[in-house]
Amino acid sequence: MVWSTSNRRAALPRDWPRIRRRILRRDKGVCTAVFSDGRQCGRPATDVDHIVPGSDHRDANLRALCGWCHAHKSASEGGAAAGLRAVSSARPTPTHPALED
Ligand SMILES: [Zn+2]
Repeated sequence: MVWSTSNRRAALPRDWPRIRRRILRRDKGVCTAVFSDGRQCGRPATDVDHIVPGSDHRDANLRALCGWCHAHKSASEGGAAAGLRAVSSARPTPTHPALED
């Protein structure tokens, strides 16, 4: 099933850019990932992540992540990313954080 990976981007809602910006603001522009030792990542967030992959675009299922955590969540599920399992890599790292308005 090719679409489980390649179609995620298309499944994003039309107002995703607005949602994304809102989540980045809500999370104060910092990565909300919490490592296995309980510390929050806290790097500048560039991505908005679906906590549970799929089509649930409600705020409760979204959070700000830095590119590193987002990439690591999908690329590897090592100990650095407790709670970050099984999240899609739907959003490639954008060129800018879109926080400037
Ligand atoms: Zn992070």
